[in-house]
Amino acid sequence: MASPLVEELLAGSALAMARAISILENDSPDAPALIDALHPSANSGYRMGITGPPGAGKSTLVDQLTRLYRNAGQKVGILAVDPTSPFSGGALLGDRVRMGEHFLDHDVFIRSMASRGEQGGLAARSQEVGDVLSAGGFDVIIFETVGVGQMELDVVSAVDTTMVVLVPESGDDIQLMKAGIYEAADIFVINKSDRPGADRLHKLVEQLLDTKEDPAEWQVPVCQTSALQGVGVAELRSHLERHRAYLRSSGVQLEKRRLRARRQVESLLAKQVMGAFWTAKRLDALEDGLDAVPPYQLVRTLLDTS
Ligand code: GDP
Repeated sequence: MASPLVEELLAGSALAMARAISILENDSPDAPALIDALHPSANSGYRMGITGPPGAGKSTLVDQLTRLYRNAGQKVGILAVDPTSPFSGGALLGDRVRMGEHFLDHDVFIRSMASRGEQGGLAARSQEVGDVLSAGGFDVIIFETVGVGQMELDVVSAVDTTMVVLVPESGDDIQLMKAGIYEAADIFVINKSDRPGADRLHKLVEQLLDTKEDPAEWQVPVCQTSALQGVGVAELRSHLERHRAYLRSSGVQLEKRRLRARRQVESLLAKQVMGAFWTAKRLDALEDGLDAVPPYQLVRTLLDTS
């Protein structure tokens, strides 16, 4: 039988949602049962990621997109993955101020997620939090992350559609863009296109996309927005909807979900198997000998005697 928390969550309670996310963030013993109970309803929401340099206008864009989706009657969950935040305790004050307009709207859920320097664990965590929001009836789930290193790639691996936001000033950096993120982009957004240099950057990005070997079925669009004025945001939303339709019709959606499920299981297995294997006793016994034995030999010995 489902727990009261699960029942409340499935009924769309924001309080239950916040509690469920805290359970995940704190790695509480209740987390596994929660995730398993939500599994049947975890796949309905459309997950999108938005990444780009600090100050590119990601939050402003998310705000505008949220308005459009809300006008269409959709419920929107926003998860800000913040590398600078050492811990999370629900939505940060900054988020609430920033999202002022949506703050009182029960169909908009905003939460900051700490990255806590988890190695690779952020992908699994993002996936689980996405599952919670999906089960809570959120139609659109937006992961917002600053374009920094592995964290960004972890988040990207947990979504259906990735938007990469650039600004006209990024022109000179674009050649240096991390290969992984460039390849992960499903939609490029040139925000602050009210500033000079937007057209030049647009051409540069298109040139870069042209050099892509093995062009996929999906032609990555480049769109210009001026989020502050709401210009181009409706077009961005059309691209998002087109991509969503493409994911469904091509079967890529299913592939992505299977890959996510696989990664989630791999990550859980690694955590549990290592946890069970690497007991304090074993570590203590090794301490002195650790650097005296060649590493591969040591691993063989450990596995043989386990
Ligand atoms: P984030 O760090 O990427 O989330 O960026 P923010 O959304 O916080 O925006 C950073 C700054 O850029 C803020 O002062 C915004 O008002 C401003 N900004 C956002 N979008 C635009 C835009 O389209 N044009 C201009 N000129 N400024 C913008």
